[in-house]
Amino acid sequence: MSSSQQTTSAAVERIEAAVATLGEGMQIRRALPTRHRRLIGAWCFLDHFGPVDVSQNKGMRVGPHPHTGLQTVTWLIEGEILHRDSLGSLQVIRPGQLNLMTAGRGISHSEESPMPHPPGMHGVQFWIALPDSARHREPAFDHYPELPIIERDGARMTLLVGNAHGETSPARVYTPLVGLDVMLEAGSDLKLPLQRSFEHGLLVTQGEIEADGEALASGTLLYLPVGRDNISLRSAAAARVTVIGGEPLAEPVLLWWNFVGRDKEELARYCREWNAQATVFGEVIGYDGARLTAPLPPWAQSP
Ligand code: MN
Repeated sequence: MSSSQQTTSAAVERIEAAVATLGEGMQIRRALPTRHRRLIGAWCFLDHFGPVDVSQNKGMRVGPHPHTGLQTVTWLIEGEILHRDSLGSLQVIRPGQLNLMTAGRGISHSEESPMPHPPGMHGVQFWIALPDSARHREPAFDHYPELPIIERDGARMTLLVGNAHGETSPARVYTPLVGLDVMLEAGSDLKLPLQRSFEHGLLVTQGEIEADGEALASGTLLYLPVGRDNISLRSAAAARVTVIGGEPLAEPVLLWWNFVGRDKEELARYCREWNAQATVFGEVIGYDGARLTAPLPPWAQSP
């Protein structure tokens, strides 16, 4: 994994995503966490994968693995992913839809390209840290086939999470958050309202934009601190950007491998429990039909 970089100008931060490998060889760009920024509101992890041609291979192959203390948010721009989890969920997600998995005290899941699958794959996966009041709850999985759409000033926005422009997403989250997918037509000039109490992040997924005059392309996360009422988004050609935001989370959030906890002892316990195949994580049948219960990789054994 390459090291992250950060430059600061006028209170915004440019955070360069790190390149990492997901599952069996798919390259992704990880914009959160980085050395310089761990959280935006309760958003604690941001992977941007693709666009990638999967017409000649099996595509995504992420075998069964556990999670605790978080929600995963999957949003596709192109392609399909089949989600399986230890609650028995079996759900294909397509562009325009949202998968929201709430790990709570523990869950396991796998993600794969269905066979057959469309030729391209492109999307984002976020993690949201659960607050203390919700992080020990029962696990859950929700698929939202339709989300609120907002059209104005040459932009088509899908509200993934939270509230914007008088609309409310059906996705259930546990801290004040927003998540928006914004498609900009060529020549768009959008003044996007922001909530003053939120910090925000902007990640371009297609094309290039200017955010308050700051050139922004894929691979860079633009961080905006609290206290802003809006941001101007312009694009000469068609472009797409994901906007996330939330109230700064006043809880210590530690990530280790696929676990979110509050201290090293707790994370070490999750590691031991997964290695011991503890029932808290349930069981999920992987894409190869096997009950894969792979132990943690060697580097992840001890937080
Ligand atoms: Mn996962």
